[in-house]
Amino acid sequence: TQSILLKNRPKGKPALSDFEFVTDDSKISINQGELLLETTYVSVDPYLRGRMSDAKSYVPPFELNKPIHSGVIAKVITSKNDNFKEGDFVSGMLDWKTQQVSNGKDLLKIDASKAPLSAYLGILGMTGLTAYLGLTQIGKPVAGETLVVSGAAGAVGSVVGQIGKILGLTVIGIAGTDEKIDLLKTKFGFDAGINYNTSKDIKADLAKLAPNGVDVYFDNVGGPISDAVLFNINKFARMVICGAISVYNNTEIPKSVSVQPFLIKNSALMQGFIVSNYAEKFPEAMTKLSEWLAEDKLTYSETVVNGFDKIPNAFIGLFDGKNKGKMIVKI
Ligand code: NDP
Repeated sequence: TQSILLKNRPKGKPALSDFEFVTDDSKISINQGELLLETTYVSVDPYLRGRMSDAKSYVPPFELNKPIHSGVIAKVITSKNDNFKEGDFVSGMLDWKTQQVSNGKDLLKIDASKAPLSAYLGILGMTGLTAYLGLTQIGKPVAGETLVVSGAAGAVGSVVGQIGKILGLTVIGIAGTDEKIDLLKTKFGFDAGINYNTSKDIKADLAKLAPNGVDVYFDNVGGPISDAVLFNINKFARMVICGAISVYNNTEIPKSVSVQPFLIKNSALMQGFIVSNYAEKFPEAMTKLSEWLAEDKLTYSETVVNGFDKIPNAFIGLFDGKNKGKMIVKI
């Protein structure tokens, strides 16, 4: 069995040296009620960066020299638990290990005949739920309005934009390469896109694309991109603060625009959230996402990296925009 431990708390952008690989050749045995799982897919997500630091947050930090864990799809190899049988696929928060023992608690059995297994880490998993619930519960989109999404070509952003289109909004995405902007428009049906790396003035470009102002802003990145959006919000705008990847690796407090005057003069709302706040709405969200997927109203992209030993690279790649759609590691 191979495991990946957190060796150091990253300073700035995570480095490969912050992770340690450990191999243990001893045979794993399981007790009554337990399962032996073999890892199939591992989700790497920007929020894991927060858990690698020891700053106080909504979840406790990862412990040093212990395996990191994240969303994982695994196959049941041996079962002494009545709820699972050999060959079942499950998803859950599991360790970065090639094999591990579980008591089955908090594992979700997944249906491999309904959707590809990896979809349960993305569009039918945490990032799909985040997109649907953040947009509908806080963004409260209304047909005819203008929605702007940052981190638009990523796992959450690409789904937010598509839901915006299903609900009848004009959707503008902000992402980091021309290839991604092209993907937004051709594959995900966005109306327009801004490449924040080549734009000379994001604020001015957005003013042209959204002449009536931005009604809903779904923010995945924070920092200067979000400042530029703030200058373009409409009266009664709703800003859904989902993520702030542009500042996760900061070592100093970033300078940013003071939001209060914008909120006051536009009677606007800005609200952060954690997807688990809406756990009671997960079944509703799953039903909607599955329906739209089956009806081909929703689609998704994945960037799949191969190999257990590539998990840290895939994770670090999120901060370099290496992914289109959900970043996943196939074991
Ligand atoms: P993504 O799939 O969007 O991957 C991260 C993307 O962020 C990269 O591909 C890159 O795209 C972009 N990015 C990286 N660095 C920067 C930067 N400095 N400025 C602007 N963009 C940058 O990740 P997810 O969809 O999984 O997550 C998106 C956001 O949502 C994250 O901030 C995450 O923490 C948050 N999140 C919050 C949840 C919640 O419950 N609140 C739940 C899930 C996610 P590009 O090439 O465009 O730069």
